[in-house]
Amino acid sequence: MTQKNIPVLAKLPSVDAVLGDAGMAEGIEMFGLQGVTAAVRDALDALRERAGELAPDVSRETLTARVIEEALITLAMLEQPSLRPVFNLTGTVLHTNLGRASLPPEAIAAMSEAAASPTNLEYDLEAGKRGSRDTHLENLLCRLTGAEAATVVNNNAAAVLVALNSLALRKEVVVSRGELIEIGGAFRIPEIMTRAGAKLKEVGTTNRTHPRDYEGAISSKTGLLMKVHTSNYRVEGFTAAVSEKTLAGIGAERNVPLMIDLGSGTLTDLEAFGLPHEPTAGEAVAAGANLVTFSGDKLLGGPQAGLIVGDADLIARIRKNPMTRALRVDKVRLAALEAVLRLYLSPEKLAQRLPVLASLTRPVEEIEGVATRVAAALKDCLPEGALIEVEESQSEIGSGSLPGEALPTRVIVVRPPGNKKLSARRSRSLDQALRSLPRPVISRLTGGALHMDMRCLDDETEFIHQLKSSQDFVDVFGSS
Ligand SMILES: *Cc1c(COP(=O)(O)O)cnc(C)c1O
Repeated sequence: MTQKNIPVLAKLPSVDAVLGDAGMAEGIEMFGLQGVTAAVRDALDALRERAGELAPDVSRETLTARVIEEALITLAMLEQPSLRPVFNLTGTVLHTNLGRASLPPEAIAAMSEAAASPTNLEYDLEAGKRGSRDTHLENLLCRLTGAEAATVVNNNAAAVLVALNSLALRKEVVVSRGELIEIGGAFRIPEIMTRAGAKLKEVGTTNRTHPRDYEGAISSKTGLLMKVHTSNYRVEGFTAAVSEKTLAGIGAERNVPLMIDLGSGTLTDLEAFGLPHEPTAGEAVAAGANLVTFSGDKLLGGPQAGLIVGDADLIARIRKNPMTRALRVDKVRLAALEAVLRLYLSPEKLAQRLPVLASLTRPVEEIEGVATRVAAALKDCLPEGALIEVEESQSEIGSGSLPGEALPTRVIVVRPPGNKKLSARRSRSLDQALRSLPRPVISRLTGGALHMDMRCLDDETEFIHQLKSSQDFVDVFGSS
């Protein structure tokens, strides 16, 4: 701090003076004295640090006004929820960073009921004594998969971790080298294995693994055979893998259980909806898997959860593991999951009732209709000459499900006048403008143009209204 700033520092108002200022009264009314006091302190600290940038003759009134303004901005920002709905126009339906599956109204209603009051979460209403939180889902999951027993944990990563730890602690787990996958966000099979206290026993090669590879690897040290659904990539060409059924047979002969990590895993045949085939949990159980793990919020379309179904004795061992207690799910999520699983009892109505399936099966003619209407509305509000076109493109399922399978869609592509590319600077401003909307828009900027996939647009009116009222958005496409 230089000598010449000391007079400015001396002019800074006290906390009490700011709190007593008429300009702060409304703020105190809205946010309460405690919050306002903290915000005023922060604003004063910030101003003190920047004292060097202030004019030496600045008045106490000006300084007070600045502190009030900054404190109010801080308070307004604190009021704004951090976790907010966005528009997912990325073209990836199950976007992990955007929270994956949107839930059906049945699940949302069940969540708010469960949240608002005590529930029979771990209370057996018939017996009048303590029960298990698994009972609410176990019947449904067994019915939908053909398994003997089921349990649920925080997510599929947790399901794999806890299954390995419960069934293969200090033992070997045999996995094909073609299945040592990494999923986004630090989920890698070899690392999970180490953390679970199990020993990875790799067999086969990247592209080819044979029954004899597994057979040769099994010994008294083997705890599990494991098959991992390579959900986010595909090995093509000269390849060989051992089927679930063959592997289950090899395990059964030697008394070693087979666990399958399905990743996405669904509960119904997606081909019935015109989508590519994705292995179902029921198929894995029917093939002879002793344990199957899969995600609640990928293709299943429910809340984040890790579902484990399989042989009753193995599920019982998992339930006894203290780690399972640490990874359990709460009543709100169980309520949502139960409601979603119930929808699977009438699979013929799923495409209408389950938002994920509705998005994935949305007819391209319907998407084109949305795109045409939105494009027309944008033409009305963007500057003369801005290029707005509806183009054919492909959406992705996302979350590593059905890799390489793309769904025909329509995107709105916007370019500046003269069919120019957006400069790097304009791209940044555009991105910023879209992300600062009341309901932020997450889209793609590629090749110097804005690409908005209309497949997952749920509220056209709100979307158009927002864009029209954003001067920052409109300005990016101006001619200068
Ligand atoms: C997605 C995935 C996981 C992790 O599941 P989360 O529910 O995201 O924890 C594990 N294994 C496979 C094969 C996956 O595709």
